[in-house]
Amino acid sequence: MVRPEVSVLRLGHRVDRDERATMHVLLASRALSVSEVIYSGQRDANLEKRIQGVVDRWGGPFEVTYERNWRSIIQNWKESSVVCHLTMYGININECLHKVPKEKPVLVLVGSQKVHKDAFQLADYNIAVGNQPHSEIAALAIFLDRLFEGKGLKTEFEKGRMRVAPREKGKKVIFGVL
Ligand code: SAM
Repeated sequence: MVRPEVSVLRLGHRVDRDERATMHVLLASRALSVSEVIYSGQRDANLEKRIQGVVDRWGGPFEVTYERNWRSIIQNWKESSVVCHLTMYGININECLHKVPKEKPVLVLVGSQKVHKDAFQLADYNIAVGNQPHSEIAALAIFLDRLFEGKGLKTEFEKGRMRVAPREKGKKVIFGVL
């Protein structure tokens, strides 16, 4: 455990426009030691099936849950955790990450479409990974890597059927339940 629990809340998922981006939010979260992503917006059975396929093949723990009421998720988390909203309008990560308490769980908010103003008000910290518009996946990956101080890239996953045997050249995958 690199630090207390970190979960991601993906806001405003749209089935027809965001499937690929949200899938990448899930993949980046999983690769960087997050074991739970909650998403809101439109429910997407196909997205849930695809990520479950990844977890079955490559391991977990990793869970994706859908919640329609994102405000209540944030309000519940705020009772015991810190809520960090990633937004280009926030305070540059270089100037505010040190304020996020290390001993508390963190809920990270990432948007897709225009994010409702309530998310800005409910968040404890509105954090910009630079104040330019860019990708939510890039912003999330940089944020998590900084939050975990470079130790977030997970190497051990449980119960997968496949794993990579790292090679300087070529590709090798080992099959069998881990
Ligand atoms: N246009 C939308 C708005 O005004 O709220 C945001 C679209 S952006 C592609 C989707 C998400 O990427 C944002 O909600 C935010 O979470 C993240 N994002 C984009 N640029 C960012 C930045 N510079 N720093 C932090 N997060 C960023």
